Amino acid sequence: MNIDLIVKNATIITCSQDHEIHENAAILVSGNRIERVSMIDDITAQELAGARVIDAAGKILMPGLINMHAHCGDTLFRGLVENSPLEIWLQTVWKAQAVVLAEAENCRLGSELGIAELLLGGTTTVMDNYWSPDQTFEAAIDAGIRMATGGIFFDEDGMDGHSSEHRPTQARELFDRYGNNSELFVGTMPHGTYTAGPENIRIAVEIANQNNGFFSIHAAETKVEQQTILERYQTSVIRHLNNLNALSPRTVLAHCVHVDDEEIDLMAQSGTNVVHNPLSNLKLASGFAPVPKMLDAGVNVVLGTDGAISGNDMDMWLSMRLAATIHKAASDNPAVISSRETLHMATLNGARALGAEDILGSIEAGKRADFILVDISGPHAMPMFDPINHLVFSASKNDVRDVFVSGRQVVENRQLLTIDMAGIQSRLARLQPIIYATLQS
Ligand SMILES: [Zn+2]
Repeated sequence: MNIDLIVKNATIITCSQDHEIHENAAILVSGNRIERVSMIDDITAQELAGARVIDAAGKILMPGLINMHAHCGDTLFRGLVENSPLEIWLQTVWKAQAVVLAEAENCRLGSELGIAELLLGGTTTVMDNYWSPDQTFEAAIDAGIRMATGGIFFDEDGMDGHSSEHRPTQARELFDRYGNNSELFVGTMPHGTYTAGPENIRIAVEIANQNNGFFSIHAAETKVEQQTILERYQTSVIRHLNNLNALSPRTVLAHCVHVDDEEIDLMAQSGTNVVHNPLSNLKLASGFAPVPKMLDAGVNVVLGTDGAISGNDMDMWLSMRLAATIHKAASDNPAVISSRETLHMATLNGARALGAEDILGSIEAGKRADFILVDISGPHAMPMFDPINHLVFSASKNDVRDVFVSGRQVVENRQLLTIDMAGIQSRLARLQPIIYATLQS
């Protein structure tokens, strides 16, 4: 076997089911996969001879983070609207989006900016929900991030200028164009049960099932949303989705803040995945998702950041730290949600939600070489007693030094290798006054 890359002397946090940790170990990469995790002495001279060797002494090597709910394109509107409840906030954001996103190239710019931010912070896989998903896929392919996205479903005309009649065709075209790319995930993504009616949700589920794709939707995020669905359909959001046969192991529900015990059981029994977005829920005052209850019931809970307008950045480290912290206060129990559970929510659970547990989410032989090197030499990160506690509670996005996706290096010593940041900056400078002017219109 030809070994292309050896990363040695690292503390390897595998994020495997048993949370194995290897001190002063190495990983050997062949092509896009991890050939094996090895002790240094077990590497042969032949393997060393043909490989690029990285000395990662003093660093943690771990799987790339899996961000299961983001809106990369919304980086264009970062900080535009603040201190508003979700419904008013959405109206203002949608007004700006309708002006700016009618141009597909602006969607592309937002995607590039978002992907740059994610890669620098150590996210190697992202589920993104945005207008012009073809632009998102193209930006992801060029940048080298592993993208999960798909056709949007929305009853009204969308911010991209397309009507709802166009959506099924657009969704099917995405499966045709990107479905055979083994580095990507394609699905269908209705915005929410209050913005996509039962018929559109049924079609989205059907297209996802026909193509073995995922189905993702915002669900049970706010009390107002629950009230709206109760008035329209005389049931709750999760029961409504269940009635539409939308709950399954290929389903990814973003938020699930307002769910009762019976709904949690429905999600657990159907194998439905839930994305927890703690910063977005805190900032928009959506509430505290019952994550400890969902974990106890056996729901696969994963982590996301939501977009940069509901949290201002897409920082999975902050997401981990908040997920591991806020439920302690909310439940009056400091033992609730362990560091190990939190780390799995950002790695292996995400892989499971994508139906890709066999190839992603941990550092194990045969899996894709999606990994990051985290520098733990900063004053905020010493001393280190338990590396997993350390990653969850002390480390930050700025500690990520190097990022690899499928064996390809995309960040080296905190520099993006695949994205032209100066170009993004100048394109954004031209667009910024147009975005700002939407507030006055
Ligand atoms: Zn969202």
